Amino acid sequence: EQDVNEYRKSLAIRVSGFVVPKPLKTFDDCGFSTQIMSAIRKQGYEKPTSIQCQALPVVLSGRDIIGIAKTGSGKTAAFVLPMIVHIMDQPELQKDEGPIGVICAPTRELAHQIFLEAKKFAKSYGIRVSAVYGGMSKLEQIKELKSGCEIVVATPGRLIDMLKLKALTMTRATYLVLDEADRMFDLGFEPQIRSIVGQIRPDRQTLLFSATMPRKVEKLAREILTDPIRVTVGEVG
Ligand code: ADP
Ligand code: MG
Repeated sequence: EQDVNEYRKSLAIRVSGFVVPKPLKTFDDCGFSTQIMSAIRKQGYEKPTSIQCQALPVVLSGRDIIGIAKTGSGKTAAFVLPMIVHIMDQPELQKDEGPIGVICAPTRELAHQIFLEAKKFAKSYGIRVSAVYGGMSKLEQIKELKSGCEIVVATPGRLIDMLKLKALTMTRATYLVLDEADRMFDLGFEPQIRSIVGQIRPDRQTLLFSATMPRKVEKLAREILTDPIRVTVGEVG
């Protein structure tokens, strides 16, 4: 335990919550499949970043997480890699429809970056990723969603539009990511986020990432996460 604390300190990681898993040292410690490992290598990722060292074991164990780390710290892979594992663990993938993983991000640009990252890891499994944000015509978007997907990367406003139009259902969604939660609040998306969360079954796994943790975001996190583990990297938060 002393060693674990020393190791966390060396990564500038602080944690709180019940029974926090040990931080890992290499991607090999994650128990990833060879496909995921080769995709990680193809990305040129040699070792996990600080947030990844602690967030990966937390999320892979099925726990909810509040991840606080500044921009550029590698948060995307910390939620995309366990999402692939989560989806591959679902029995009878084909039976239901609608996304299993739902990721919300504040802007079209950020959502697009996550979309590209998710596709890199999803591809070799035949996991389909759909982007739901402005830029594509709504009609085209509806058509794409109706053709089916396992992952949706969305801005909150457009996702609400698509849900209202019944272009997708959330009945099979069990992995929800709120990325850059502070910026989504700054942009006034709190009502949309609450509406989306309200449409996803309560036995989901919920991940909230943010660069800062204003009181309003903290309040939402307390309401929508179950027994979360909080992981903070560096001086932020
Ligand atoms: P954040 O979401 O925290 O702002 P990103 O997930 O966008 O950060 O990652 C920032 C950059 O770091 C990206 O270019 C990403 O490809 C790269 N990156 C992520 N994880 C690793 C890693 N383990 N090793 C090297 N580079 C990484
Ligand atoms: Mg990010």
